[in-house]
Order: sequence, then structure tokens, then C-alpha cells
Amino acid sequence: MALFYGYGYRYFDPTYLLVLIGVVLSLLASAKVKSTFAKYSNVRSMSGYTGAQAAQRILQNAGIYDVTVQHISGNLTDHYDPRSKVLRLSDSVYGSTSVAAIGVAAHECGHAIQHNKGYAPLKFRTTLVPVANFGATLSWPLIIIGIFLGGAQPLITLGILLFSAAVLFQLVTLPVEFNASNRAVKILAGSGILAENEVEKTRKVLSAAALTYVAAAAASILQLLRLIILFGGRRNRD
Ligand SMILES: [Zn+2]
Repeated sequence: MALFYGYGYRYFDPTYLLVLIGVVLSLLASAKVKSTFAKYSNVRSMSGYTGAQAAQRILQNAGIYDVTVQHISGNLTDHYDPRSKVLRLSDSVYGSTSVAAIGVAAHECGHAIQHNKGYAPLKFRTTLVPVANFGATLSWPLIIIGIFLGGAQPLITLGILLFSAAVLFQLVTLPVEFNASNRAVKILAGSGILAENEVEKTRKVLSAAALTYVAAAAASILQLLRLIILFGGRRNRD
């Protein structure tokens, strides 16, 4: 990101280290979830449930009959779509009988149950989506235009505020994700879909997945910190 080139930052910008730390954290978390998922994708559950079957059963047990379970292509593309009430499970989850697949399916059911029960952080997160998208799309252009206009502080400040909205979204995502995984582990432990020692393995997969959200949030906080260090107090220095 050599965006600030020609703006008096011809020397190495030390705040760039914050961005690099964020990138490294995200890469480590992503590698960890991939390796953990791969490991437990090879462990078949004793019950023989596929991810899709486990999801159907969990939803039924929770008294949720208006959510459909569908297949979606790709890897780790699993998600619950609250608008259409569709639970989409990826290639390595939908038809797989591994403890990893069942864990991911149960996690997505956790989101469907949150939606069904009106879990407040999920509601808040859903209302933040448009604001966060707007912020993520417009924050950098505004900051860059502000810089090109010779340091137009109102534009830069607005850009930083919009970026903060995107950061807030990632922070609100954390309790939503942790809660979905906690629900998943509790349900799996009490449903007979997985044996006790299998639930432990599933917990490892879900913990690794949660780590990617923590890393993403940390990375964007570091980015925000950098923006504030670089531009937050410019007026005072000029
Ligand atoms: Zn989730």
C-alpha cells in the first residue's frame, strides 16, 4: 500500500508495521483453520451423519422448520443467510461425514437459531451490514481525495469515521461467532450426533475458525490506529 507516496512519506513509514502485523496475524489464523479443518476432515463421525443431515436434525430439534439446507460450491464458504432463511454448506461439509463437517454445519445452525430467537448481537450486526459496506467502500477513496486536495481534513476525518464503522462491524461479529460455536458444541454434546471425544475435535475446528475472526478484527483495528496516527491530528501539526 504505497498510497502515501509523494505526500511527504518518502522515508519508510513506520506505521506500516501495524498493517504488516495485521497481515501476518490473518495469514497465521487462516493457515491454522485450514490445517485444523483438513486434519479433522479425515476423522469420520461414528454416527455417520453428513453435515447436511446433522444440520437438518439440529434445526428440527430446535423447532425450526422454515430454514432450508442447501449445497454451495467452494471451500469454507458455509454460511447462514438470514434474509432467505437458507443454510448453505460447502463441498467439504454438505455430504461429508467427518467431525469437522458436522462441526461447521452445527455452527451454521447456531446462526439460524440466533436468528430464530432474535439474539440481539446478530440483529445489531445485520443492521450494521449496509453501514459497514458503505464504510469499507468509501473510506479509502475519501482519505485519498482528502490527501490530494492538500490535506482536506473534513474529508479525511469522514474517511476515518467510515473506516471505524467497518471496524465496529468486525467487532460485533466476534460475539455472534463465538455464540454460534458455543451453541454448536452444546447441541452436539447433547444430541447423540457426535460422541464425547468427537465433540472435543469439533471444538478445535470451531476454535480455529473463531481465530480468523479475531485476527481480522485485530488487523482492522491496527489499520484504524495507523490512520489515526497518520491523519488524526494533522491539523495540529500543520
Ligand atoms: Zn459463523
